[in-house]
Amino acid sequence: MLGLSASVLLAVVSVLADDNLHKDTLFKNGLSEPLSRFSEIHTPAYETWPSSIPEVCKKWSTGPAYGHDGDVSCSGEMTAVEIKIEDCEDTWTLCRCGNAEMNMDDFARRFAQVPPGIRSYTGAALAAQSGGCSGVTLDWNFIRYHGDCGFTVFLHESGHALDGAESWNSEAFHKAVDESSCVPDDYANSNWVENWTQLQVIYTYWVQFGEIPANYACLYPSLMSLWNQDRIMEALYTKKCLKERRPFWVEQNTMNQRRSHSRHFPARGLPRALRLPPTSLNHTMGFSG
Ligand SMILES: [Zn+2]
Repeated sequence: MLGLSASVLLAVVSVLADDNLHKDTLFKNGLSEPLSRFSEIHTPAYETWPSSIPEVCKKWSTGPAYGHDGDVSCSGEMTAVEIKIEDCEDTWTLCRCGNAEMNMDDFARRFAQVPPGIRSYTGAALAAQSGGCSGVTLDWNFIRYHGDCGFTVFLHESGHALDGAESWNSEAFHKAVDESSCVPDDYANSNWVENWTQLQVIYTYWVQFGEIPANYACLYPSLMSLWNQDRIMEALYTKKCLKERRPFWVEQNTMNQRRSHSRHFPARGLPRALRLPPTSLNHTMGFSG
């Protein structure tokens, strides 16, 4: 689940190579189990139709796998769909390698489940092959999944795009992490980039479900650093996509013909969560001095 832009990888790898944050962890066994309620996250209505293959998908279908040894595995015929989600007037293009473990239906649903403000920072995505699951966010705006990855991985990678090489590297964030006595989990300890996006996963959980299933006082300064960024709060709380945040479109590559529609209608409504004022946040987070 690396989040490094390929273009900046060499530049930052020396910084990150021995950059374990050496913090205690809030969730000892990762986020998947404690945040399992993500399985209940709202699925907006969406439809897909076949697309031609955008150049950006071809571009990222080769090269280092990032997170795996060797190169990315993308063989067989690549297919693509355009996806229209009810919370956005614009579409996205999702590409899939013929040998990818993740089928297009699961790919589309998980992509749609990423809250619209966070999703807006992703330009397009590709599903490729792997023995397990990992993802990489390339150029901070194109996500490639290796294997059949669940929703939390989608949210993690989308968080890298939201970060955009900006938030993780801010002085305010580093100060907040220094003032925190823990990070979310072992993976967050990897480096500042992973810590930021894991915090984003936890904050998004809180926005969606109104709780965090742990006493997270040790994480409070870090979470507040997200709270203090209007751009991040906008992304986590908006019910509509953010057109002005979209890094790129690929509609010029698509067939522009809606045929063979695949429709999905959600069974239930969206869990509502209000953006609480800091005092309530303080209280809700169980922070006691
Ligand atoms: Zn990552």
